Amino acid sequence: MVANDLEKIDELIRAEEATLAQMQPASIAFAARARKALAGGVVCSWHATDPHTMYGATGSGARIRDLDGNELIDMHLGYGVMVAGHANAKVVEAVRRRVAEGTHFALSVQDAVAVAEHLAERFQVPLWRFTNSGTEATMDAVRIARAATGRDLVIRVEGCYHGSPDGLDFSSWPELAYAGPAERPVPVPHTAGIPRLYGEALRIVPFNDVEVLTRVFAEEGDRIAAMIMEPVAMNMGIVAPDDGYLAQIRELTRRHGVMLVFDEVKTGATIAYGGAIEWSGIVPDLICLAKAIGGGLPIGAVGGSEEAMGPVVSGTMEQEGTFNGNPLSMAAAKATLTEVLTKEVYAHLDELNGVLRAGFGDVKSRFGLPVTIQTLGARGGLQFADPAPRNFRERVAIDWRIVYLEHLVQLTGGVWIPNGDPWATSVAHTREDVARYVENLDRFASLLA
Ligand code: PMP
Repeated sequence: MVANDLEKIDELIRAEEATLAQMQPASIAFAARARKALAGGVVCSWHATDPHTMYGATGSGARIRDLDGNELIDMHLGYGVMVAGHANAKVVEAVRRRVAEGTHFALSVQDAVAVAEHLAERFQVPLWRFTNSGTEATMDAVRIARAATGRDLVIRVEGCYHGSPDGLDFSSWPELAYAGPAERPVPVPHTAGIPRLYGEALRIVPFNDVEVLTRVFAEEGDRIAAMIMEPVAMNMGIVAPDDGYLAQIRELTRRHGVMLVFDEVKTGATIAYGGAIEWSGIVPDLICLAKAIGGGLPIGAVGGSEEAMGPVVSGTMEQEGTFNGNPLSMAAAKATLTEVLTKEVYAHLDELNGVLRAGFGDVKSRFGLPVTIQTLGARGGLQFADPAPRNFRERVAIDWRIVYLEHLVQLTGGVWIPNGDPWATSVAHTREDVARYVENLDRFASLLA
């Protein structure tokens, strides 16, 4: 369906973009004002989307309204943050209570201890610190690993994303022309402004490739502080680890005295109650969390073993931040984790996945699409390849237009999903909500047929 019909796909894209422009005149007009004060008209470069920037929004449960008042079923959920649902009553109440009691003291509050205790039980590592974003969590995790090992190099997986620290923001979506051979990838800065010098402390490996990793450890194992990775990759669509891949990494990192860092910013408390650690049974030395654990308030967390967190406990490595463990975020996280994203919720998410998978299977067989689906708890997505990609280079071989067209067809059909990133579902989504996704997928397939 895909590769040989790009002209037709371009035509379909233009038609969907025209429909969307008719749906969102207020957003299009507002962009002119926004651009005069916000650089590029947006607060984050990811928001500068095609075909025009959409502004928002209000949200309630599984739905948001954009600036034009269009009501959309939200399967974007703010990059997978709002798994608790928009304006969840328990989170609203916790934040309301806290905001009236003061929101910042430069003191660690009781809720921070309660959240840390909860995370320790849930993610199987004992000691925690808080940040305000996933970026700060990965930045701190790598620094902790370097402090704990006294080594400098970091292994990083091509196609994984770990936020925007200068020292890590390489090779998340590299242009292949600059990325070196598949079995010996070179670090490519993710964006302008990152000194190539930082890349010299990185070793880039492909996802799902133990052979390359074994070679890197053999060559330089005693210089490597950490290996950081998304245990289930979620920044190249969803790419799951092969059977045994994470266990082999755990064994190799142990053997070479290297700290294994799971970046669970996307997977933590979403793919399962205990994230990828519960899902895989593999416990890393350090784990990074953010996004969904805060119920919509800014948060990040880094947790680790006694050994890994030793330098933080002793004070030889200072982990710092004015707003770390902000009382408002801590109150929201406590309510989100202990009252909303409870163990029972994951059965509900699986039920939604049943609807999505059955609907997908039906569309796939009727239209013969070479497409695959992944669903893991609150996260899921399609890959426009069958079999599904196992690493970045296989993912990037998929033409972006097919991914974009599906995103547009979902949006004009009233379902808001990211353009290329996995979708997310929440405690508030119903079977009917996700059935709308399937209806739109059916229309997408018939447009292509
Ligand atoms: N790690 C992963 C796996 C992510 O997907 C992201 C953001 N998409 C980050 C880190 C950075 O998180 P933040 O945007 O909160 O800084």
